[in-house]
Amino acid sequence: MSDTAITEALGLKGMMGYDTFCPEPWTEEVMLCRVCGLDCDVMRDVVGPTSFGGAMAKKARKHDLFTCAYRGKAWHEQALRLVKGIEDCPSPTLKRIMQGDLQQIIESQEVME
Ligand SMILES: [Zn+2]
Repeated sequence: MSDTAITEALGLKGMMGYDTFCPEPWTEEVMLCRVCGLDCDVMRDVVGPTSFGGAMAKKARKHDLFTCAYRGKAWHEQALRLVKGIEDCPSPTLKRIMQGDLQQIIESQEVME
């Protein structure tokens, strides 16, 4: 089961562990988006499933929900794919190239804000 399937099952856009996080209530003060580095928006004491299995079993658990305000945006999705690509890439040279692309996407976005 892919990470995207989990967040989709939970009715969330974004990807768990990258731009969407469900830690135990009040264990994290702030969480930074692993894609763009933004402080995530937080909803405290959310009750609901936090995993695909939990969603299927309709198991609710109290947690905090951190989400990046940009998740779901086209540039953010592209950046997310780069972040995952960098993690999976065995070649340091390719990693450096992808890191450059990622930087560029995020920087050009800040200019547009
Ligand atoms: Zn983000």
